[in-house]
Amino acid sequence: MSLNSPYMPSKKENAAMNTLMLVIHIGFVFWYLHHDMRILSYYNIVSILVFSANYILLSRGHNFLYMILCFTEIILFMIINVVCLGWSYGFQLYCFGFLTSSLLADSYIHGQGKPHRTVLLFIAFDFLLFIVMRIWTYGHSPIYDAGNRMVESVMYLVNAGTTLLTIVWFVVMHLNKSYLLEQKLNYMASHDELTGLFNRRYITSYLDSCSELPENIAILDIDYFKQINDTYGHPAGDAVLRELAEVLLSKEELITARWGGEEFLLLSERDLFEELRQELEAHVSIYNEMTIPWTVTIGVSRAEPNRSVSERISKADEHLYLGKQNGRNQVVSDDRTANASSAH
Ligand code: GH3
Ligand code: MG
Ligand code: MG
Repeated sequence: MSLNSPYMPSKKENAAMNTLMLVIHIGFVFWYLHHDMRILSYYNIVSILVFSANYILLSRGHNFLYMILCFTEIILFMIINVVCLGWSYGFQLYCFGFLTSSLLADSYIHGQGKPHRTVLLFIAFDFLLFIVMRIWTYGHSPIYDAGNRMVESVMYLVNAGTTLLTIVWFVVMHLNKSYLLEQKLNYMASHDELTGLFNRRYITSYLDSCSELPENIAILDIDYFKQINDTYGHPAGDAVLRELAEVLLSKEELITARWGGEEFLLLSERDLFEELRQELEAHVSIYNEMTIPWTVTIGVSRAEPNRSVSERISKADEHLYLGKQNGRNQVVSDDRTANASSAH
């Protein structure tokens, strides 16, 4: 049995639900004792023990057993109360609470997006139980009578409220989790894990959706990055990529994406690339007390009428290649072709 669905309630949420159940049962036990309803008092003491033991199950991660115990306890509690007090106290309403809780608990266990056969059987059992209890109460008088219609109405409202609270709690928890999950998946689908920058897929679809392309599209590539990895180690290379990303993210005028490996796609309305190159050249990375110098080469393609996204990117790539050939650590664009700044 695997319980690893992202919808799985957290330990805190399970503990909160368990505490609510415990408090409700502690409340009931006083009421039953007050009216000398022995069967109900005894069963309720068992319930209190079950919900107390649940904390141990939860702390040890036995979530499935916890769920089974909760369901069993509540079903028995409902049946015993209907038999002892009759229909007018509203304990049978718990059958409705089981619908959402069993369907959603199932999604934690199986995570299939549709109810598992076991849950459909349980729902059929739930409905049948409701009918059987109704028929039973026609033919049998309740064992106890609190003797007060007002108490009966209040208890009906308490049970209706508890049922409603259970349904709302499960649905809200589920909606909240699916919202958070969607946010997380959207982030993962559009961002690069190492640098936190937009990824290639996102920036490509962004460019495709632009009615007007940015004035400058550039590709920035770290020079001799393979050597950085070989000399200082792969984690040091990763640290350099993250530092570069931090500098790029700090530029408000830039939209930046990790294009692949040690290549980044930059979009900007202003030609700030030479400024950026100089800033990065002056930047020194320190990793595990090792000083790592590095530079970048940037190929820029300016806006031109009727130039498509892929043509602009190819142009930027061509310019990058020229810059690499011409000694690296430089910016190459349509109007400034391979004017080497300083060779490596
Ligand atoms: P050039 O100046 O011509 O760009 O040379 P280069 O060494 O930077 O280029 P090359 O394409 O030969 O090597 C790129 C290296 O980048 C090879 C690859 O192992 C490394 N690399 C790609 N992605 C990552 C990464 O996520 N982390 C680290 N540490 N290295 C990466
Ligand atoms: Mg490189
Ligand atoms: Mg490269």
